[in-house]
Amino acid sequence: MTRRSRSRLEPAEWYSIRPTRSLKPATYTCPICGYRLHAMSDHVLIAPEGDMSRRRHAHRECVAAANLPGRPAGRGLLSRLLGRS
Ligand SMILES: [Zn+2]
Repeated sequence: MTRRSRSRLEPAEWYSIRPTRSLKPATYTCPICGYRLHAMSDHVLIAPEGDMSRRRHAHRECVAAANLPGRPAGRGLLSRLLGRS
């Protein structure tokens, strides 16, 4: 089974999203649209469930359009919504 997790945004219950910009001469592949983005442009870091080891760089416009779920407002809120205890 082939997984292309490096090029796709992994499913998560919520995402930590924060704006970033770096001075590194690097390019990243946006996990939402699949196009390249430059590290030196204004973009955002998306971390599934706040896990920065799985963070991805994405275009601001793509993240805005995707309307990703943000960090739950309070501890326990998400588990109540999902019917877990
Ligand atoms: Zn994009």
